[in-house]
Amino acid sequence: MKHYLLKELDRREFLRFCGLLASMLGLSDLYIPKIASAIEKASRRPSVVWLHFASDTGCTESVIKATYPSAAELVLDILSIDYHETIMAAAGTQSEEILKRSIEEGGYFLIVEGGVPTKRGYGMIGRRDMMDILKEASEKAKAIIAIGACATYGGVPGARPNPAGIKGVGEYLGRQVVNLPGCPVNPEWVIATIVHNLLFGRLPELDRYGRPKMIYGTRIHDNCPRRAHFDQGVFVEEFGSEEAWERKCLYKMGCKGPNTFSNCPLVRWNDKISWCVQTGYGCTGCTEPGWPDAFSPFRAALPGVAIPIFKGVENTADKIGATLGVATAAGIGIHFVASALKGRTKGKKEGGEE
Ligand code: SF4
Ligand code: SF4
Repeated sequence: MKHYLLKELDRREFLRFCGLLASMLGLSDLYIPKIASAIEKASRRPSVVWLHFASDTGCTESVIKATYPSAAELVLDILSIDYHETIMAAAGTQSEEILKRSIEEGGYFLIVEGGVPTKRGYGMIGRRDMMDILKEASEKAKAIIAIGACATYGGVPGARPNPAGIKGVGEYLGRQVVNLPGCPVNPEWVIATIVHNLLFGRLPELDRYGRPKMIYGTRIHDNCPRRAHFDQGVFVEEFGSEEAWERKCLYKMGCKGPNTFSNCPLVRWNDKISWCVQTGYGCTGCTEPGWPDAFSPFRAALPGVAIPIFKGVENTADKIGATLGVATAAGIGIHFVASALKGRTKGKKEGGEE
């Protein structure tokens, strides 16, 4: 992969990217020059140690995907990635030495991709258990950033029956970390988190699940371009149907957007080309704690969400979605949540599907 340096990038493209970061950081366009300057003037690129545990490498793929000039190029230019098992040239004892040296120096951002196997022998690198490597690397880290669904809350490797006892990084270490969930993480979320630190000298404000509010503060459903169809009760009921081609609401096809918090519809993926709902499948809820178990089956309509059947009927999904958020985060399955909410939805059936 050719690696472009900031100075090689077209100035307009760079400022466009800084504009995107400004909106993600919740700042006005007036901050664009400040962001550009903070990135360019960083006396030393922030040092990063990137550990890779139980996952499918999807987050690394997401970050290093080469389109030009992409967020990935900027990530690699803004950060000094000192250790990364997948992309570093060194191997074997040489790479172990690099990790040892980085840990001794300290003061790095520790980025962790993948869940932590908490049973001995279930996840090892260089004959050492991943959990021991994590503990050691976390001690001198300036901040710990868990990226992707697996590293944050367990994700797919942590799904039932979870024989390796996979846990998220924060849960395993028993301390606050910055969680950037998603399957995979969006590279722009990683860079926005680091740039926030460059700009303000601190990490962004987090929600109760350790997620930066600037990224995970709004619901997919509230920024979805198909929301008008939901409000009018116009749904896709079969993939390949006329309604599907006309991009109607995917709620009945299992879209979990009403209960999922993230800015995916705004930031999108692969340099803003598309995102899940735009592809026609719907959101599976991958930025939420408890995913995927709490959001299965993916193709089943999210229970407990009252939907309007014609224009003008009151939409109660907002109120119920908020309650569901709490319950699913506690790891309670969606269908259990639905029965728990039955009492609350009673009397609202005229507008609802349940
Ligand atoms: S249910 Fe899904 S497709 Fe429909 S409006 Fe909400 S987020 Fe968009
Ligand atoms: S739209 Fe939903 S499933 Fe897709 S990345 Fe965002 S949170 Fe995950």
